[in-house]
Amino acid sequence: MKLTVIGNNGPYPKAGGACSGYLLEEKDTKILIDCGNGVLSALLNICDAEELDAVLLSHLHSDHMSDILILKYAIGIKKSKGKFSGSIPLYLPMEDEDLVNRLNYNDAFKLIPINEEEGLNINGLEIEFKEMQHSVKTYAIKVKNKDKVFVYSADTSYNEGLVEFADEADFFLCESGILENDKNENSNHLTPAEAGIIATKAKAKRLVLTHFSPEYRLDKIMNEAKESYDSVIELSEAMKTYFI
Ligand SMILES: [Zn+2]
Ligand SMILES: [Zn+2]
Repeated sequence: MKLTVIGNNGPYPKAGGACSGYLLEEKDTKILIDCGNGVLSALLNICDAEELDAVLLSHLHSDHMSDILILKYAIGIKKSKGKFSGSIPLYLPMEDEDLVNRLNYNDAFKLIPINEEEGLNINGLEIEFKEMQHSVKTYAIKVKNKDKVFVYSADTSYNEGLVEFADEADFFLCESGILENDKNENSNHLTPAEAGIIATKAKAKRLVLTHFSPEYRLDKIMNEAKESYDSVIELSEAMKTYFI
């Protein structure tokens, strides 16, 4: 598999940046994981919107889904001009009915609620979901291809469920949205150190941090992560492709 980081900021982008969006590819299969603001514009440098086999939304916070509201036009208008037929499967938590009702245009998407009990198989890629601890319904996402395992934390506070879910992942993409100093009992993000603890306990083979607040310097994020993870730590880079 290969993973291209389309956007890695949150909850708002740095100048010229984009919020959460990750394109996972295996042969001709293209799965977009999260679609925050700025993602569609950057994605179009790689492929056309209608080439996506599926979109998975970890949760419905704006920094993870706002460009769905624009992607629906890109696809819906191509449909009306006869350049594309069908609907792209969009898997998402569907608790927020008002918001869900705004996501579609000209049946650009087939909306499918995420069901933690039932995995998916998209062109041979096995996909699993695990509910996390966040202020809205949120799912971590696992994609298996043969013997390779990719795990994305989504947004969450520390929880042992994520340790279990990331068990021996070949590639663990983990949010580190808050620094230690800003953490309090209401924080619903991981610190870099917590991401490191989870990766260590899970024996993840590769830890790549993401969901960077423009309020923080990247070297501070790296330094906090180093406190708890002995192996190589990487900070995700927008528009970089990683091989899994
Ligand atoms: Zn977020
Ligand atoms: Zn969130």
